[in-house]
Amino acid sequence: MRFHDLRHQQARIEADLKRRLGAVLEHGQFILGPEVTTLEATLAEFVGVRHCVAVASGTDALLVALLALGVGPGDEVITPSFNFVAAAEMIRLLGAQPVFADIQRPNYNLEPADIESRITAKTRAILPADLFGQCPDYAAIHALAERCHLPVIEDAAQSFGATQAGRRAGSFGTIATTSFYPTKPLGCYGDAGACFTDHDGLAERMRSIRNHGQSGPYVHTRIGLNSRMDTLQAAVLLAKFAIFEPEIELRQHVAARYHAGLGDILTTPSVAAGNTSVWAQYTVEVTQRDRVRAALATAGIPTAVHYPTPLHKQAAYQSSVRLPNTERAAQRVLSLPFNPYLSTDEQDNVIAQLRTLHLKSGTELEASL
Ligand SMILES: *Cc1c(COP(=O)(O)O)cnc(C)c1O
Repeated sequence: MRFHDLRHQQARIEADLKRRLGAVLEHGQFILGPEVTTLEATLAEFVGVRHCVAVASGTDALLVALLALGVGPGDEVITPSFNFVAAAEMIRLLGAQPVFADIQRPNYNLEPADIESRITAKTRAILPADLFGQCPDYAAIHALAERCHLPVIEDAAQSFGATQAGRRAGSFGTIATTSFYPTKPLGCYGDAGACFTDHDGLAERMRSIRNHGQSGPYVHTRIGLNSRMDTLQAAVLLAKFAIFEPEIELRQHVAARYHAGLGDILTTPSVAAGNTSVWAQYTVEVTQRDRVRAALATAGIPTAVHYPTPLHKQAAYQSSVRLPNTERAAQRVLSLPFNPYLSTDEQDNVIAQLRTLHLKSGTELEASL
């Protein structure tokens, strides 16, 4: 059993994929070719915003967004510590300071009241991540951002395809970013990402930044990057996008089966009212995580921990800030094998192994204190 398994999906799209890749080899426009333009239009419509700017990775999408908003030395950006490193990393790369805020229980997303308590005169932006597949409370975050005249950068790398109040993830930021890393809900076969915005001026700036700050051929108006999406990756994404909505449905079924099989013995993920999740991870909580992981590994079941060390405890980002919910989550979270095509046999095996562990060890799996 694999933790991520892309083989079923690949078999399903094989013919379309080969046709699309063949077309790119034929026309030969490997950088910013027509597939990139088609993908941008397709994804902007899906998300429900005016502009999608395709870039080279989810990390670059964050960098491009921060550059477009003018974040730089002396600025503070409020962001989660319980997150993948990329957002804090790009903030620091620009000479700004990540200010870590705590998360809510039980859904691991930023707590709006905690964001508010960390706003200072130096705050330049709020950068939430939509962790594990669902959005934080954007109504509250937007109200706060408007009151303080701050832009919001939504990191939708894990939530692409999810909704809140009927709107798609990727539409909740002044700029939103996403990643198409192979194992994300919508993934390609390499590195790629995108930025989304409704703001014409920001979109134009981001198009320029991703291509060496050009405003025309060899006309460099600003400092930029080489962060263009490969045409081949855009072709892969068009093939995968064609089956993305049915795959989101399959993800809901897999998550519901885990919930039904495990909800009485451990803390299963909870989806906030008004949200749908795309289940970038299916993450439960257990108290004796190392023992549970080892027992599952012995039974041939791979697991992962997202994330074992919060960023404020990492050498590169050390901070004395106290984030109790973040620290608690980091000690307990455990992600189970998940993909839209997980077979009922495979899934029943994961559930049965966890139930056996529960019977053997009494209440040790329970972590709902
Ligand atoms: C994966 C991920 C990223 C980075 O995406 P890459 O495409 O790997 O650069 C950024 N933020 C979050 C929340 C992620 O999960």
